[in-house]
Amino acid sequence: MIDPKALETASACRHYSMCKIDYLGTGLCPAVESNFYVSYYPEGRMDIYRALAQKAIPVTEGLTDIVDTCTLCGICDKQCYFVTELRPSKVMEALKDFVDDYRRSGGEILKVQPDDLLRRLQSIVGAPYATNDPAHLVAYAGDPCPIAAPAMPRYVVLPRTREEMVEIVKLCRAHDLPYVLRGNSANTMGFALGPGLVIDTNRMRGIVIDRDRWCALVEPGVSAFELQREAKRHGFRVNVAEPAAMVCANQMCSGIFSLLGASYGTCASNLVNAEFIGPEGNVFDLNQPDAPNLFSFKKDVLPMPAVCTRVWVKLHPTTDDEEGVLVPFSTFEGALALAEDLNKRRIGFGVGILGTEYISSFMAPTKALARQIKEIFPEKLEVNYLVLVLGDRYAIDAVRKITANQVIDQGLFRTLMLGSPHLADERLSSILEDFQSDKPAYDILCRPEARSVIEAALDPSPGTLAGAVPEDLREFFEGLYQRPEMSDLVWLNMFRILSSRMGRDRAFVACIAFAPLDKKELIHAMLARFKEIADSHGVPNGFGFVMPLDLGKRALLEYDYYFDPANQAEIDNIRRAMTEFAGYVIETSAKVPGVAWIRHIVYQGFSRMEQFLYI
Ligand SMILES: Cc1cc2nc3c(=O)[nH]c(=O)nc-3n(C[C@H](O)[C@H](O)[C@H](O)COP(=O)(O)OP(=O)(O)OC[C@H]3O[C@@H](n4cnc5c(N)ncnc54)[C@H](O)[C@@H]3O)c2cc1C
Ligand code: SF4
Repeated sequence: MIDPKALETASACRHYSMCKIDYLGTGLCPAVESNFYVSYYPEGRMDIYRALAQKAIPVTEGLTDIVDTCTLCGICDKQCYFVTELRPSKVMEALKDFVDDYRRSGGEILKVQPDDLLRRLQSIVGAPYATNDPAHLVAYAGDPCPIAAPAMPRYVVLPRTREEMVEIVKLCRAHDLPYVLRGNSANTMGFALGPGLVIDTNRMRGIVIDRDRWCALVEPGVSAFELQREAKRHGFRVNVAEPAAMVCANQMCSGIFSLLGASYGTCASNLVNAEFIGPEGNVFDLNQPDAPNLFSFKKDVLPMPAVCTRVWVKLHPTTDDEEGVLVPFSTFEGALALAEDLNKRRIGFGVGILGTEYISSFMAPTKALARQIKEIFPEKLEVNYLVLVLGDRYAIDAVRKITANQVIDQGLFRTLMLGSPHLADERLSSILEDFQSDKPAYDILCRPEARSVIEAALDPSPGTLAGAVPEDLREFFEGLYQRPEMSDLVWLNMFRILSSRMGRDRAFVACIAFAPLDKKELIHAMLARFKEIADSHGVPNGFGFVMPLDLGKRALLEYDYYFDPANQAEIDNIRRAMTEFAGYVIETSAKVPGVAWIRHIVYQGFSRMEQFLYI
């Protein structure tokens, strides 16, 4: 029997793989201590339940093992609720019920036989680490991308070493077996799906911090979160982005861009060297004179050039006086001018313009509260954009001077975040009205003399914010928000644990392009066109962020299209919108130097950013 409520939850899994990193300090699902296939993670289990509901897989030995290893501990509820508001443990109970019923009814439990190729794979990596069991395979068969067709692989393999990877690549070549590498498949564009062999890098998890050389050696199964945590432990920072993305995969896929790119750059700027396995099984690194030139760039959609087996990522020093501030703006023009100016002046190690969609999602632990905050910012506070700046005390002092102290500093941000359930209250409105001003309402918010009354109105505390979540999770959330890093702008941007909340309400596709920052009218026109395209296809859409790059000369623009993966009409609409968006960006990039479409950078993430920012 399939439980419809559990199926609804399973179908809403966004595949951002946040259950694969211990980002809340809860520990991971205990089943994955000794099991590496994604089918043992909560995300994989959700896929399996959906597949059972569709009668797409039989009950196999693999399935019963997956189900039996769940202890119903509830860790996945905490992790998943934090970003998506889903409660997967109901799905886990339903999975157990399904298998119990099946066993009780005397159903046959299928033992899937290996074929010759699987035996060869198992002889390379060890029997437990290569499989053709459909219960495992189905967890590698799809992602919620509106344009990617699901693809059930024939096998999944989990190599541990570079030597094993070489043997696998050679075996695939000898048998004409197509293969695809998989980090966490969080690209959500179907790039890690394939009908042949999926090579999951989850067992290749080495990190070596090399203080003398200022770099970290990273194997392909290391996530951004894990690397940042290790770098921080040694007093450094790395330029990584989405926390659950594998560093090598992200580097290969889109070159890694984040707001830290304002100072650290993107693509090849992130690394010192990298090692690969070519299609013939040949090992090379980027500093070899006869190596394929992966630093180069071609404006085209290219295939994956090689398997990345390690990257030497740059380590950046930190100082003990770092802080984050948000500078509020009513207009995009004002925000863009400040972001450009700061980047030209080399102020801030992280700079970006955020819209109210992002800031409200990041601040609020629930969709309902996020919707409220999204309205309050423009309506009550007259804020439509915020320039986020991360810097040391000299940088932050400079921002204060440039903006005449009109900043939401770290303290005020904590007040707004921990008091956000009271932002809609009348008390805040009357405070704003009491202060006479001909300036926008956010000016009052930023005044030091208003701080104590705002605090009194919002009553900011971990308990206040935890009040927004269901009762049974409140104690956990209150404990979480007692940790200072959970509202610290620097920590939150280094570890990025909130960014997946962008997809909490609806799944999204990020429309991303690079553009020349001095051509303001072009940036306006591009963002306006991205919106117009989405609107014309009935696709919900919103401004994502803008990051200045390369000392104020270029910018990365992200505009987001939203859809419901369970609604075919919305999928059709967004497909049409994405096609038109692609056509528009390709046309613009052919005409204007400095405009580049992110899809052209995919698989060219090791290229020098100069190659696509200036062509
Ligand atoms: C909510 C959200 C926000 C995001 N924000 C950002 C952002 O700000 N900046 C950014 O840069 N990205 C961002 N992304 C995109 C995402 O982080 C990248 O696509 C990243 O590559 C995903 O990592 P992964 O481990 O899941 O890779 P996968 O999806 O598993 O792989 C990505 C591609 O790389 C290939 N690949 C994987 N491993 C290897 C390897 N070892 N060698 C060769 N090829 C390999 C795969 O075949 C696939 O084609 C975001 C994604 C989400 C879901
Ligand atoms: S409830 Fe089951 S699936 Fe969820 S974390 Fe615990 S053991 Fe893993």
